[in-house]
Amino acid sequence: MISAEAKVSLVGLTRSGLKDALVLAGVPEKQRRMRASQIWAWIYFRGTTDFGDMTNIAKDLRQRLAEVFTLERPEIVTEQISNDGTRKWLLRLSADEHNRRHDVEVVYIPEAERGTLCISSQVGCTLSCTFCHTGTQTLVRNLTAQEIVGQILVARDQLEEWPHQIAQNPKAPANGRFITNVVLMGMGEPLYNFDNVKDAMQIVMDAEGIALSRRRITLSTSGVVPEIERAGDEIGTMLAISLHATTDEVRDVLVPLNKKYPIAELLEACRNYPGLSNARRVTFEYVMLKGINDTPEDAKRLVKLLKNIPAKVNLIPFNPWPGSDYECSDWETIEVFGEIVNKAGYASPIRTPRGRDILAACGQLKSASERLTGKERRALEITTS
Ligand code: SAH
Ligand code: SF4
Repeated sequence: MISAEAKVSLVGLTRSGLKDALVLAGVPEKQRRMRASQIWAWIYFRGTTDFGDMTNIAKDLRQRLAEVFTLERPEIVTEQISNDGTRKWLLRLSADEHNRRHDVEVVYIPEAERGTLCISSQVGCTLSCTFCHTGTQTLVRNLTAQEIVGQILVARDQLEEWPHQIAQNPKAPANGRFITNVVLMGMGEPLYNFDNVKDAMQIVMDAEGIALSRRRITLSTSGVVPEIERAGDEIGTMLAISLHATTDEVRDVLVPLNKKYPIAELLEACRNYPGLSNARRVTFEYVMLKGINDTPEDAKRLVKLLKNIPAKVNLIPFNPWPGSDYECSDWETIEVFGEIVNKAGYASPIRTPRGRDILAACGQLKSASERLTGKERRALEITTS
């Protein structure tokens, strides 16, 4: 008898990984591809969490699968719902090799025309951008593909987004999706966890499963230049660059990785990103910091830097966190900045901070939950009946 601890979760395995894993349940070689395909559809198309529901698979095999495998997702510790409809889940991951259980946060942001899920690629971050709270966390580990995909599955479960649930929901969007977009903008630097992010995105894009289009997934990087082109070739999602400054002098301080890969090299990598066009632009994220990077001269320099890159600019009002050294630029300053960029032909929306009351905004993820005791966390818990 195999103990519960030894069970392998099938969630987050690639197609070939899933096929290979079926050896453990004694599925004969000749049947493996077909069975993997069936199980794949149950997991990713229907959202099944119980092998017993896989009705096109013989009962004895279903039983064997349940003995050897699980379909486990990360455990939900708390769910919070903002007064603007933003939802945030604190998820507890399975124990790592040191028997530590880390938490990550996932945020869902509903808008009129779309719904964006913001997911994490690492616990903490090895980089230490001076305006980002995640950068101050010392505990860092890569998330497995399973944990990255798990964040999306939990969100779909909670939003009741699987086809059989959508079909019964009169309030469901016409396209059948609450989550229309996924952004890798939570904790961590996705290009420092390349292989797991790649596997996870391939699972999410697979046409026989969740089937999110690569154009609706955005990978945000602080500028790991050598991996950018590879990401374009091998993952193929949309690209966002955390630029935040227009001179190396300032960017060296805000995003210390700039000392290794300065602005000119970063922008050259963007120019070479495969498949760019006016319909497929690179997003440049620019956090507005009072007195640091927010002058009209900065805006003009930014326009020059972006020359010949199909680009759009996202202006992000800085979200302060306890102990941060920066302030957010004044609203008027942000508008003047946006105007200059906009007049030069680049869309430059100012990102409205969402979910502020539940600390769900950019750069704040997991900052509050880390300091809470279990009791305090439970007090935060909100049920969604
Ligand atoms: N590590 C990746 C992805 C995660 S950060 C990256 O840096 O791109 C996602 C976005 O949130 C980045 O643009 C980041 O610069 C921004 N961000 C971090 N802290 C912030 C804060 N306190 N206020 C506003 N934006 C912040
Ligand atoms: Fe890491 Fe991105 Fe935060 Fe920089 S901004 S510390 S790269 S998560």
